[in-house]
Amino acid sequence: MLPVTLEDDLLAVVNDPATTRHAWADRAACLNLTGLPYFPDDGDVPPADALERCAVCPVAPDCLASALRYEAVDGCRNGWWGGCSPAERDVIWEKISALVLEPVELPLADPASVARSLRARRWTVSAIAHELCCSERTVYRYLAGPAA
Ligand code: SF4
Repeated sequence: MLPVTLEDDLLAVVNDPATTRHAWADRAACLNLTGLPYFPDDGDVPPADALERCAVCPVAPDCLASALRYEAVDGCRNGWWGGCSPAERDVIWEKISALVLEPVELPLADPASVARSLRARRWTVSAIAHELCCSERTVYRYLAGPAA
């Protein structure tokens, strides 16, 4: 079971439209991993080193939140995401699903909105600049502008 504060944090990531854009994957601890350790045969557990990697992965909440989002549409769970098994995700989803918002598209034509959304999630300015393919100076300009 997730502590309440972790549930709240996870819910914020699940409800953030930036999550399903997968820019977070560039910061994944498994980024350059070969093989599919997170998709063991049914009922099996990934190797210990794979789960240890998830435990220190800086984007584990995003990884888990993405899976929960896609699985809500697919109706089935495959693999381990954010260090969580399909059964663990069942439990998590049961706890947070009533508070999950309808998915929304990020306003890509409005990068200032995207910048503010990411900043509200405590992304660094350099990470936002990377996400938006712009300079940090531009990000600061977006953040200083009026909210839509
Ligand atoms: S939580 Fe695990 S599977 Fe997900 S991105 Fe991080 S290392 Fe990869």
